[in-house]
Amino acid sequence: MMNEQQLDWRWKAVQSRNREFDGAFYFAVQTTGIFCRPSCSSRSPKRENVCFFSTPTDAIKSGFRACLRCKPTLEYSPAPAARIVARAFEILLANVDDIPTIDALAGQLEVSPGHLQKTFKAIIGLSPKEVTDMMRIENFKKNVKRADVTTSLYDSGFGSSRSLYEKAGENLGMTPATYKKGGKDITIGYTVVDSRLGKLMVAATAKGICSVSFGETEEVLRKELEDEFFAAEIFRDHMRLNDAVTAILKSLDGEKTILTLPLDLHATAFQMRVWSELRKIPYGETRTYAQIAEAVGNPKAVRAVARACATNPVALVNPCHRVIASDGKLAGYKWGIERKKELLDKEKER
Ligand SMILES: [Zn+2]
Repeated sequence: MMNEQQLDWRWKAVQSRNREFDGAFYFAVQTTGIFCRPSCSSRSPKRENVCFFSTPTDAIKSGFRACLRCKPTLEYSPAPAARIVARAFEILLANVDDIPTIDALAGQLEVSPGHLQKTFKAIIGLSPKEVTDMMRIENFKKNVKRADVTTSLYDSGFGSSRSLYEKAGENLGMTPATYKKGGKDITIGYTVVDSRLGKLMVAATAKGICSVSFGETEEVLRKELEDEFFAAEIFRDHMRLNDAVTAILKSLDGEKTILTLPLDLHATAFQMRVWSELRKIPYGETRTYAQIAEAVGNPKAVRAVARACATNPVALVNPCHRVIASDGKLAGYKWGIERKKELLDKEKER
């Protein structure tokens, strides 16, 4: 099981008196008032008495004196790998609320993702991905104390419930729902009907529709719903969803209706902006990912827009099928490219 101790890379460097980190950071001992470089050969202090600084100046400002034995105020040049790890953690800790992707992190450090991977594995025994996942789990533990499980998940930087759920076993030691004991779990009613494009599932909480998806069988669809809303009580509820299903089926069969159904979606602010932009695309028309990025005021975020489309929980209601690549290719579709093609062909008939 992973835990915060594994993220304590500086402490590990101190314990192993790792010379490669000299100059990358400094440690100070509260009980003695002295600060050292990581490789200092003085007796090892207790972890709870140790704090860390990036520069000798910071340590002195906080009232610590330089160790006479290891002379931390002289100039030291950390090994390139140690420098990368130290800088990576600096970036990550400065962005705990919006943890960067591994590619973005590598970009900021001006190394390749592969090099970052090797360096992390060699120096701290964890991949950068494992580190950022652990940081997200830590965020989740904090957030879940003041919000429901699903909201906490997204606030913690997980793109979907499933990605936390998959990691939950090893990282939390229990499911997120169990972790959040006494949390306000939700109930979800769903129904599955036959449609032109296979089985169509519509699911809703008391507040609104939370999922619209296509699949081959009811079993598969229900399983996906349970994975996504693992904390929820899920039951069949055809009666209540009948009107919504009828509206969705009509639009699927070519009726030019605007689907204005009450929604209950949980996502990042960015995903919400993209999805609301999707709902503005008129029936029968398409936009490119770049146009949507432009429309949400972030022209560079083309890939993020594509990701937001790929994580759209409500097919048709948020018409992500109307977004295509700039070269006119259909690009991807969460429920299969064939369905996207059929949907667009049908809409163009009118
Ligand atoms: Zn020392």
